Amino acid sequence: MNRDIYVVVEQVDGVVQKVGIELIGIATKLAADLEQKVVAVLLGDKVKGLADTLIQHGAEKVIYVEDPMLGVYATEPYTKALNAIIEAKNPEIVLYGATSIGRDLAPRVSARVHTGLTADCTKLEIDPETKLLLMTRPAFGGNIMATIICKEHKPQMATVRPGVMQALPKDSSRTGEVEEFKVDFAPEDMNITIREVVKSTHAKVDITESKVLVSGGRGIGSAEYFDVLKELADELGGLVTSSRANVDAGWIGRERQVGQTGKTVRPDLYMACGISGAIQHLAGMEDSEFIIAINKDTHAPIFGVADLGIVGDVHKIIPLVIEKVKAI
Ligand code: FAD
Repeated sequence: MNRDIYVVVEQVDGVVQKVGIELIGIATKLAADLEQKVVAVLLGDKVKGLADTLIQHGAEKVIYVEDPMLGVYATEPYTKALNAIIEAKNPEIVLYGATSIGRDLAPRVSARVHTGLTADCTKLEIDPETKLLLMTRPAFGGNIMATIICKEHKPQMATVRPGVMQALPKDSSRTGEVEEFKVDFAPEDMNITIREVVKSTHAKVDITESKVLVSGGRGIGSAEYFDVLKELADELGGLVTSSRANVDAGWIGRERQVGQTGKTVRPDLYMACGISGAIQHLAGMEDSEFIIAINKDTHAPIFGVADLGIVGDVHKIIPLVIEKVKAI
């Protein structure tokens, strides 16, 4: 009997969320180890048209449920739909994004189907001996990485942090199976009334999308010094980010925070300027392609993950770097 790997792919207003594509990427690796298939699950009103994108990114099959009740996310109808799919299909593993929707939905579904849930995973792999899913996540305030196994209950379920897993490149020639799954919704399945959806009017900065990040830590000394880092980031076509210390100090917005309680990033270049390299910061950036660290303390832990380390005062080094970059 097939015990496939299911990925719950979020869509908002008909747009597939990036984390869903990343989950298909990791599910493909897990499925290869288990010799099973990757099945993407899409819930919404009129979502069938999104199935091809998921197949092109690695899903072998897409199961979709369409209903006006699923048009805007609400816990109960989404839980009912997923519960019905899990009971009918009996998957081995179910993965969700650790987004606000995933963090709401996954615990409800896990309680409904009587299984466990490991939240906020940063690593997933199959134990070669037991064939169980090893789910790794930060624990005890991020001071240790805990690996959790769900031995007794199925499916094994995890939410996974956005930006951590690698998406597969799109292959337009890929084909796969698309199946509609029917769920009979009753009016009482919607136990809330959605009166209005108010969209955020803030200009959105998505630091996970940028290929270059110039990141400032407490060592930059002031909020104003972010303007200097921005000058460098602009020259390099990147964005300014920060450690939590400066976010907590109110020097920069939380949407720019890198780390365990911020965003996980994987740019081509990450420049850590006056950042010590606490484990909670490293958790969000250590998989960057190339890391340059500038710190006046030779023993700063950030040098442990840096490809290029510069020991010195950021205030002296950054202007020199800007000058050199401008001269290119
Ligand atoms: P510091 O640790 O104070 O380091 C400043 C560094 O700047 C030092 O290494 C110093 O040598 C250097 N320096 C000083 N002056 C100069 C100079 N002129 N030139 C060059 N170098 C200089 N942190 C995050 O970043 N992201 C998170 O998501 C996050 N989540 C957390 C979650 C939990 C549950 C907890 C407990 C903590 C979390 N933290 C997080 C906080 C984390 O533990 C550190 O406190 C924080 O990362 C430190 O920020 P920092 O490196 O900027 O400051």
